[in-house]
Amino acid sequence: MTRLVLVLGDQLSPDVAALRAADKSADIVVMAEVMEEGSYVPHHPKKIALILSAMRHFAEDLRADGWQVLYSRLDDADNAGSIPGELLRRAEETGASEVLATRPGEWRLIEALDAMPVPVHMHEDDRFVCSHKEFDAWAEGRKELRMEYFYREMRRKTGLMMDGDKPAGGKWNYDHDNRKPAQADMLRSQPMQFTPDDITEEVLDLVGDRFGGNFGTLRPFRFAVTRGQARRALDHFAKELLAGFGDYQDAMLRDDRFLHHSVLSPYLNIGLLSPLEICERVEREWRAGNVPINAAEGYIRQVIGWREYMRGIYFREGPEYPRRNALNHQRGLPDLYWGGETGMECLKRAVEQTRDEAYAHHIQRLMVTGNFALLAGINPTVLHEWYLSVYADAFEWVEAPNTVGMSQFADGGIVGSKPYVSSGNYIDRMSDYCGACAYSVKAKTGEGACPFNLLYWHFLTRHRDRFARNPRMAQMYRTWDRMDADKRDTILAEAEGFLDRLGRGEAV
Ligand code: FAD
Ligand code: SF4
Repeated sequence: MTRLVLVLGDQLSPDVAALRAADKSADIVVMAEVMEEGSYVPHHPKKIALILSAMRHFAEDLRADGWQVLYSRLDDADNAGSIPGELLRRAEETGASEVLATRPGEWRLIEALDAMPVPVHMHEDDRFVCSHKEFDAWAEGRKELRMEYFYREMRRKTGLMMDGDKPAGGKWNYDHDNRKPAQADMLRSQPMQFTPDDITEEVLDLVGDRFGGNFGTLRPFRFAVTRGQARRALDHFAKELLAGFGDYQDAMLRDDRFLHHSVLSPYLNIGLLSPLEICERVEREWRAGNVPINAAEGYIRQVIGWREYMRGIYFREGPEYPRRNALNHQRGLPDLYWGGETGMECLKRAVEQTRDEAYAHHIQRLMVTGNFALLAGINPTVLHEWYLSVYADAFEWVEAPNTVGMSQFADGGIVGSKPYVSSGNYIDRMSDYCGACAYSVKAKTGEGACPFNLLYWHFLTRHRDRFARNPRMAQMYRTWDRMDADKRDTILAEAEGFLDRLGRGEAV
């Protein structure tokens, strides 16, 4: 009996669970480019091109490996337009009566497959360090789900950066060494780039044709689209950039979009690389004495700590998680997030690079676009759809807990124990944006005062009931309370004026 083996666009790993469960001599792999997946949010054209090109290359690899593959292109005349639709069409065509699938990373697709009229055998996606069962067992009975404790479990489980049962170097976490601002450096290496081959060129034409109106620049397109290329990108990062990863992890520079970041998340999230192979490589560099411990530990923490933790939260919290709005923020997304005019240099730069690269690094996402949205009270669901659209690495299982949880506190404090908010001072300390800004970061009120300075206090004031008793925020409220009453009134009135202009759609 023939079975169909579904391989989705973010499941491009030769050892993915459904392929392992299948019989190469009898079962048929189904891969499908479908409009529904291309348009459930207005994805960045580079993100769509990355996924489609990597899918086409992966299908070729599977065929070369002896698999029979039925591949549907987006522009095929009989393309049914959705994953379930394509599976049913292929089932009819081949007489197959069962589907093997690897559990998708998104509730939307899990529900669509569950509702199929043919039996779908869903295998757990085990390309992660932590299974759902393990995460739930860790979370069970805990009052707070703090990432740090989860991370230590993952260190023990994998043995990464461990000396026996002790953390290598004697400490679990070297984060306090990782907050240095960066200097411009013309000689700093950049993440590895790749010239598109014929397959990618064909995809770029198709994407330009179908999705050219979406926010984002399609060309030049320089992403890796095969496992071989992604491994070269990892090698390059490990040799050239990893050493400075820790020190400059939180830094931002106007003319350096990547600094020491790896830009490996797009490859990791579609399956071209595995989390363990990346972390093992990073640890080897440290053990060989090529990189400092704060770089290696810091990097490994992001991958087996934050990345696995976010996935655990997404699946534990259920399908409604992306729509949570604990702070009841209702403002629409300002036009500046889609490239509209703004005098705020930090936001302008973060959005510009998002448009060009389908990439911004963590601190830009958290402390610039995320921080501003939280301070301005933007609806977290709308913001979630923006992040899900504009980044090449954006898949709901990892994007939603980062946006709704970490960045917007919209889950009420599951991911974070306090909201990530800051005034302009933090951005000034960690970047060179403020020197080129139309606003003054030093001005706390009055003409040209940095909007982050005004909105920061506005946020704390409007959420006083919720946060004043939080021990990690009490100091901020004390500072506010000690301020001269007139000054407080001025700050709040100017913040209101700014929010009114934002609400009217004026350029700010
Ligand atoms: P590096 O800085 O080189 O970090 C190394 C790796 O660690 C990354 O490749 C990534 O796999 C992992 N990592 C680091 N931080 C996180 C984190 N907080 N959560 C999960 N993995 C992490 N990451 C995504 O992969 N997809 C998303 O859609 C996404 N959306 C985000 C939205 C917001 C609002 C915020 C604040 C963060 C988001 N992140 C997301 C996390 C993080 O910003 C990206 O993983 C990182 O910027 C990817 O770039 P990089 O590969 O150069 O990372
Ligand atoms: Fe951003 Fe304020 Fe600095 Fe301008 S002054 S770049 S708005 S933090």
